[in-house]
Amino acid sequence: MEQKYIEYSNLLKQNDLKSTPQRVAMLGILERKGHADVDYIYNEIKKDFVSISLATVYKNINTMLEAGIIQEIKVPQKKSKFEIAKAKHSHFVCESCGEVYDIEEPRNLQIRLPEGFHPKEASVMVMGVCKECARS
Ligand SMILES: [Zn+2]
Ligand SMILES: [Zn+2]
Repeated sequence: MEQKYIEYSNLLKQNDLKSTPQRVAMLGILERKGHADVDYIYNEIKKDFVSISLATVYKNINTMLEAGIIQEIKVPQKKSKFEIAKAKHSHFVCESCGEVYDIEEPRNLQIRLPEGFHPKEASVMVMGVCKECARS
C-alpha cells in the first residue's frame, strides 16, 4: 500500500472516523491542491470513483470538518474552500484567478470592538492579486 494512503487512513482512525477509500482519496486531492472547493474535489474524485455522487462528497466533507481533519475557508462571493487542518495561518485570496494562498498570521493585530462584544475568534483574509496574475 502507498505510504500516503496509510497516513490518511491513520489520520481518519485517530479521529474516530472510518477509513474509507473515498475519504482517503479526498484527503489526497486536498493535499495536492492545497485549497479546493467542493466542485474541484468532486471532479477529481470522479476520476477514480466514477459513480460517487456530489451528495456523498458533501457528506464526507462535513464529517471530516466536524472531526477537525479538514478546515473550511470562507471566501467572499465564492464557494468555500477546504484544506487539511494544520497550524493556524491566514489566507490570501486572488480576486483574479480565485486561488487561495497560505500566508503567515499577522502579528500584533489590534482589533477594537464596541463595548459589550465578546469575540470568539478572528481570522485575517487578504484579498488582492497574486504574483502570477500580476505578471500577466
Ligand atoms: Zn491569481
Ligand atoms: Zn490554508
